[in-house]
Amino acid sequence: MRFDSVPKPPAVEARPRDPRGYPVPAITPWEDGAPQFALTDHGRSADCARERLCSVCATRMPRGPVWRVVGATESAAIAEALAAGSPYRNLAPTLEGPGHRACMLYASMVCPYLARPNARRGLSAPGEDELTAHVLRGTARGGSGAVVGFADYEYAVTATKVLFRFLDVVEFLPHDTADAHLDELRAELARR
Ligand SMILES: [Zn+2]
Repeated sequence: MRFDSVPKPPAVEARPRDPRGYPVPAITPWEDGAPQFALTDHGRSADCARERLCSVCATRMPRGPVWRVVGATESAAIAEALAAGSPYRNLAPTLEGPGHRACMLYASMVCPYLARPNARRGLSAPGEDELTAHVLRGTARGGSGAVVGFADYEYAVTATKVLFRFLDVVEFLPHDTADAHLDELRAELARR
């Protein structure tokens, strides 16, 4: 769906824009005045992790649950765990940090690297090891995924990477279409 038809959380409204009008997420690096949407900036991501800032809007997240958008594989693993009544814990760390519920609902519908099938995401930081080799090459996302709430997150900042791990699923909102969370986002924004 057109990105400008999705209502923006106020802190997203305040973000800098690219020439098309896309809000630029907090963790996106800039090169020569142009946002590099496909990349994650190490320093900005580290600041978000340490200061509990939303990776989309760069404002502080309150204590309590945090949200992120997951791809098809992780979405399927969470659905399976919930169906089995067993706890889900993502043991593989990810480079993608958490955010507010409204920001992640928004990002799931607007961010090309989250919302579009086969979009790819890379890293701005040099360096590679076995743990993240698959991420550095770019991870193809499936046609479905989910916005997921977690009780909390852990992080580690290394010389080249900021890794996140998420604990205890508290909300699971799977999606198959780009506009799946429009009503949920409108309701979330109306609550504020
Ligand atoms: Zn936010």
